[in-house]
Amino acid sequence: MSAEAIGPSKAARARRGHRIDVLRLRRLGRAAVFGPAAPRHRLPDAIEHIAQVHRRHHPGADLDALRRAYLLAESAHRGQLRKSGEPYITHPLAVTLILAELGAETTTLTASLLHDTVEDTEVTLDQVRAGFGAEVELLVDGVTKLEKVEYGAAAEPETFRKMLVATGTDVRVMSIKLADRLHNMRTLGVMRPEKQARIARVTDEVLIPLAERLGVQALKTELEDLVFAILQPAEHARALELLRAHQAGPEPLEKVAERVRLILREAGIAAEVLIRPRHVLSLHRALLKRGGLGPGGFGRLLILVAEDADCYGVLGELHTCFTPVVSEFKDFIAAPKFNLYRSLHTAFADRDGLVAEALVRTHAMHRVAEAGVIALGDPHRATAPENPQTAEPAAGGEPGRPGWLSRLLDWQRQEPDPDTFWTALRAELAEDREITVFAEADDEGPLQLPAGATCVDAAYARHGRLAHTCIGARVNGRLATLRTVLRDGDTVRLLLDPDPGPSAGPAPEWLEYATTPAARIPIRRRLEEQAHPAERAAAPAPVAAAPHTPAPARTEPAAEPVALVGEAPGAPVRLARCCTPVPPDRVCGFLVRGGAVTVHRESCPVAGRMTAAGRHALEVGWRSPSIGCRVTLYAESLGRPHLLADLTEALAAQGAAVLQAEVEPPRQQRVRHTYTLRLPDASGLPALMRAMRSVPGVYDVSRAARPRG
Ligand code: MN
Repeated sequence: MSAEAIGPSKAARARRGHRIDVLRLRRLGRAAVFGPAAPRHRLPDAIEHIAQVHRRHHPGADLDALRRAYLLAESAHRGQLRKSGEPYITHPLAVTLILAELGAETTTLTASLLHDTVEDTEVTLDQVRAGFGAEVELLVDGVTKLEKVEYGAAAEPETFRKMLVATGTDVRVMSIKLADRLHNMRTLGVMRPEKQARIARVTDEVLIPLAERLGVQALKTELEDLVFAILQPAEHARALELLRAHQAGPEPLEKVAERVRLILREAGIAAEVLIRPRHVLSLHRALLKRGGLGPGGFGRLLILVAEDADCYGVLGELHTCFTPVVSEFKDFIAAPKFNLYRSLHTAFADRDGLVAEALVRTHAMHRVAEAGVIALGDPHRATAPENPQTAEPAAGGEPGRPGWLSRLLDWQRQEPDPDTFWTALRAELAEDREITVFAEADDEGPLQLPAGATCVDAAYARHGRLAHTCIGARVNGRLATLRTVLRDGDTVRLLLDPDPGPSAGPAPEWLEYATTPAARIPIRRRLEEQAHPAERAAAPAPVAAAPHTPAPARTEPAAEPVALVGEAPGAPVRLARCCTPVPPDRVCGFLVRGGAVTVHRESCPVAGRMTAAGRHALEVGWRSPSIGCRVTLYAESLGRPHLLADLTEALAAQGAAVLQAEVEPPRQQRVRHTYTLRLPDASGLPALMRAMRSVPGVYDVSRAARPRG
């Protein structure tokens, strides 16, 4: 049989009316399905490598179905050539290898070898079911295209609809489709440029978002770079050149990685510290977002540990030994993304000011981060027997049928028209992605924000803390409220108060509009500062801890005020830089390397998670409150309703405890209040007195020569 006799597709053959050597195919098919003459365990050379890779992830896998699937696919595709001139079977083999490398289980690989047989050869679904069972049949059917002859222009939308419905039954359908698309994208160079661009656009609008939602990061990033090269060749070339120039020199992150390895070794945390280079598109996005990249920006540290609890241990060490960039801290372990992804993200600066981003995760989390649903194995079994630790519950639904997929499958049923379905599908998939907003003025670059971001988010992304003075925004030339949700491509100008008063600052309701941590964190902090100015204004002078622990490790000499450690008196103490505790914050301590203790605020999320993860929290307290500061103050004021309530509220907001209060009867509208208070620290007194004076009606506050009582 000639290559011509078996054409590239069933439709093409039907049109040409060629006769096919059905008998020969049947014979081969039967041999493949019902067993070979060759010894049972002898694997064909062509799938030897796939089998090896597969066994690495699934040591006990039975490879017989794989062997039979290969024999059937090879015989069915024999004589067909890819556009590149290679035998067609190289394509299903390549797709299967991609899946095997991601750790897919045997049924997926079996279906993957067969994935184009029903579409492009005489093999039928019945044959597939007879030989390999209903699961493999469903997977092969799920990725089989609908015929252009029958569906015309609706073929592509309806094919995707069918694939998504099949994915709802078995998510492995989409795993195969993604790997299929990846290999096709890798070998797209042989196609005409218009066709390349068309395929790249569908990949960008549909398959990449699906890869993202299913958590298959490894496929997603490679697809992104392939699409980027086709759709934005100049930008791609520029980013690639930068990346190569960077790679030609020494990697500055290597020094940081080495220090992190040392720190973790001293802390007794077994960890693998790797450097992961950015992919080309990620580099391009970072350039757009920041205008340029620091020497540490070309890659990220990937820190792999054994246990969940170790992740927080690593985080504690990083936030203690380096200066964390608090706005970059994200906890995707406590709050996993919708796509199963779990990791801690943080960024920190080393002593030389080099900023490094770090991802902290366990090996199991890493497998899921790379392979997403593929790492979860067979969705019809509660746990994948070979690697039960990866079968972790997903956020917002079961792993095999995430919430977004159910919603998508629900609405698609209401949408019989293929064009409307296709438009809605792409719009839906675009939703969770980043948007780019532009500045009115040319001197400010575009901003990239997560979809759903508001003007408040844009203000903090653009101006940092200066955004506290933001009074409004102009979106696409029109005045808009700060709560306005921005859309991709909007032009935004943020209006700052040119002459902000001392009370300028974010309104508490900004927290309701702010969706990004980069906005929420400084807003929350500023609101706290405004409520408790004394806490920030007055940290106590350093108090030396009793000498007890001989090895103070590498504490920065006397740089931090010291808290008293109850359980380990005398241990060197460092204040965590993530939450910067000051008296009278309630605090707790964690033993770190070299016997030192890191002190966090009790409300610090890092501390909370370390405790939740099983790290022992030491009892620590401030020295000053035990000594305290007792003071009597007079407040002279004009009598008015609620004055007493307002004054005591101001006192409480400053952390002052009222031990005694007297109000003299008013004389000519004047009232004198006398308060005896206990303050955590004397240095808070000026701020306290200022706060009392700012209560309406109070015209003087003075201090009694000595405290009463
Ligand atoms: Mn294919």
